[in-house]
Amino acid sequence: MTVTELLRSKGFRITALRTELLTLLQRSDRALTQAEVEQQLRVDVDRATVFRALNAFEEAGLAHRVLDGSGTSCFAACAGDCDEGHHKDAHAHFHCRKCGSVFCLPSVELPKVKVPRGFRMEQSQLELQGTCKACT
Ligand SMILES: [Zn+2]
Ligand SMILES: [Zn+2]
Ligand SMILES: [Zn+2]
Repeated sequence: MTVTELLRSKGFRITALRTELLTLLQRSDRALTQAEVEQQLRVDVDRATVFRALNAFEEAGLAHRVLDGSGTSCFAACAGDCDEGHHKDAHAHFHCRKCGSVFCLPSVELPKVKVPRGFRMEQSQLELQGTCKACT
């Protein structure tokens, strides 16, 4: 599916920002903060618009949010089977202590855990820390 088709399938109107934003997230090998996104966008938009677009992507299941070591939100494109309001990104995230980047590790699945009776788990996260390929 092309970026345009993907956006349409989630009910988005096609704008230059949305197309470029989603392309940017899909091409990046690591999760991007809003500031990084803004630096790389070629379309001229204000911060509030970028913020709204990122949040709309998250709600629609196009991108998921990860916190970096300092608690800043980073965004990464979803693999494709995430739905509106329901993410299935069951992979670990790697936080590099040297460069501060956060990477999606699709090949590292989250361990299956069983929660006690009466608890209903909706999400789990696994954050690994260390040094990334570029920093090792
Ligand atoms: Zn997702
Ligand atoms: Zn690094
Ligand atoms: Zn991820």
